[in-house]
Amino acid sequence: MRKAANDINRCVACGVCALQCPRGAISICKGCYAVVDIATCVGCGLCAGACPTGSMSIQDTLTPLRDIQEERTEDAAR
Ligand code: SF4
Ligand code: SF4
Repeated sequence: MRKAANDINRCVACGVCALQCPRGAISICKGCYAVVDIATCVGCGLCAGACPTGSMSIQDTLTPLRDIQEERTEDAAR
């Protein structure tokens, strides 16, 4: 199943994703980053499409977030 995942190293806590989410699955912890309630998320992708930094993405839930972050770090280094 696909769900939203946030790369907290790139998130600027702007809250755009939370405003887009039709399920209210995203909350912003004060001054830090967006947190996705995986149980509520339906994987629609609206949050990822609206995220200005590209930190929010839709991932297979079997992919650990640390792998996503490592992959992005490698991409950025290229
Ligand atoms: S994928 Fe859809 S349901 Fe899930 S957090 Fe993003 S906007 Fe909300
Ligand atoms: S839209 Fe992107 S940068 Fe803004 S709070 Fe959501 S995940 Fe973070």
